Amino acid sequence: MGKILFVSNRLEKIQQYAGIFGKKPYEFFTSSDENSALEIVEINVPDIIIFDAEFNGLKQLIKKIKSITNTTSFVLLAQNDKLKADTTQYINIFLTDEMSDNMILSAIMANLKTKHSLEQLSDTNKNLADSLYRLNVLYSTSSQFAGSLDKEKLVDYMIEGLDKSLSFDLTCTLAFCTEDQPVLHLNSLYEISDELLSALKLRTVLNYKSLFEDKNPPFDINIDTLKVVKTIKYPANRFTFTLFQYDNMFAPISLGDNFFGCIEIFKETPFTSDDATCFQTIAQQVSLPLKSATLYQEIKATNLKLEKLERLKSEFISIVSHELRTPLTAIKNSLDILSGGRCGDINEAGQKFLSMAQRNVQRLTGIINDLLDLSKIEAGKMDYHFTNMDIHSVIDYVKLSLSVMAKEKGLNLISEETPDLPEIYADSQRLEQVLTNLVSNAIKFTPEGKTITIRSHLADASQLNTPDCFKEEIKKLDGKYIVVCVEDQGIGIAEKDLLRAFDKFAQIENSLSRKVGGSGLGLPIAKQLLQAHNGAIWCDSEVNKGSRFYFAIPVSTVNAGSEKNLVLN
Ligand code: ADP
Repeated sequence: MGKILFVSNRLEKIQQYAGIFGKKPYEFFTSSDENSALEIVEINVPDIIIFDAEFNGLKQLIKKIKSITNTTSFVLLAQNDKLKADTTQYINIFLTDEMSDNMILSAIMANLKTKHSLEQLSDTNKNLADSLYRLNVLYSTSSQFAGSLDKEKLVDYMIEGLDKSLSFDLTCTLAFCTEDQPVLHLNSLYEISDELLSALKLRTVLNYKSLFEDKNPPFDINIDTLKVVKTIKYPANRFTFTLFQYDNMFAPISLGDNFFGCIEIFKETPFTSDDATCFQTIAQQVSLPLKSATLYQEIKATNLKLEKLERLKSEFISIVSHELRTPLTAIKNSLDILSGGRCGDINEAGQKFLSMAQRNVQRLTGIINDLLDLSKIEAGKMDYHFTNMDIHSVIDYVKLSLSVMAKEKGLNLISEETPDLPEIYADSQRLEQVLTNLVSNAIKFTPEGKTITIRSHLADASQLNTPDCFKEEIKKLDGKYIVVCVEDQGIGIAEKDLLRAFDKFAQIENSLSRKVGGSGLGLPIAKQLLQAHNGAIWCDSEVNKGSRFYFAIPVSTVNAGSEKNLVLN
């Protein structure tokens, strides 16, 4: 129950106290001189020392004992009137000569109990502090895991976390971060001799193979060429084979069918069950981010492949289109010569076939030009010539150039202009291209006798109203815009197809669009050209009633004259 030392020169007191504490559960020691008292303290570390206030050199002895132990309680046996102020500061309780044996016993027992309770409390506190520290390490390690998709770094974080929480002497981590070359990471307190290194390599490879029993391990390892990365904390010292007598723990690093490696950890003092839990937790925790990192690497590789394919496709389109353009121009010229009668008269049937051929050459040229434009835009090679300009000039030009086509189809093409619109900062040729596409689509998809109207007005981005599927597109706009609208009374587009109309090569499924054909590139090109203007394009439509295609261009904030200094595109 407790070790008690009684220091006194008074024989009758020594006898009295031996009578009280000289039997179990107490271990009782007595001393009547300083040296033997110090010796007992050093060897036995008593829970309580009772000093007789009459003892010579008491103050000096107490000071010396204080420097040896700080877990011992001090008791002073004295007459009340003989208490010395210079010793009382070290004393926990007082006894007097007048106290009965029972009183002395209960005072000392009470003190011992309090002392044990305090010691238990401090042990519990220490355990709590340890657990808290480990939890913190686990938390910060898992935060590090969550923030990285680099496999090598993840392995480093795992070892760092283990070092902080278990303070190991050595870890051997076999990591398969790249499939073709496993790496053995050795993180050690001391330097590792060549013989020990060979032994550790062999042990790790055997450990690895043992994980798969009679199945084939997922990766082959050549022990002679196995890459080793050593991190040594104190290179001045060296580990010997005695390392293998240390306590050790081993764990695979894997998640389901994904295997990333294995780890063995050595420590001179035995691992506790808490250590084992912490070790398993960290080894398991790293597996999930390692899996994410593997997926990320795969996605990155696929993306690179896709990018390469996309580049090849653009190059292919651009080369083929160029190659097609030259013979097409030759065909067009020949047809023009023939139909112009320069090679003699052509009969009516011949003329019909010739004009059919001319129309198709024109269509083919349009498709090839669209393909070339798109590949230029996607390669970032489209030239833009921005100037301050008036939107009416674009509308007038397109209306004039497509009026014949509209008339031929029996359509009424009109424009309703809003006077005094502010200027925009744009490439007029590109805007003509956009509007030409919208109006020619309207002509294509509107039956005879109907009207196509081009309108323009000034609007704030916050006032623009679009179908839900274009809300994201419009969200990017801010400030004042000139909005141009092409309204037709044609076949319309179903709501579910509105967004798809702007996809490359899109042809909305309906009998007319199949009949009239087209490259399906007009709207995606228009969208990209408008993006280059910091604008947007969208549409609103009702099947069999008609469509309204809109585009918005920001109002110019550039003063005339300063525009030449701007870097375009
Ligand atoms: P294309 O050059 O083939 O017309 P676009 O990209 O300009 O290609 O248009 C894509 C598709 O969107 C068209 O094939 C058609 O199905 C649909 N579309 C475009 N404009 C209209 C319109 N005014 N009315 C009905 N459908 C249209």
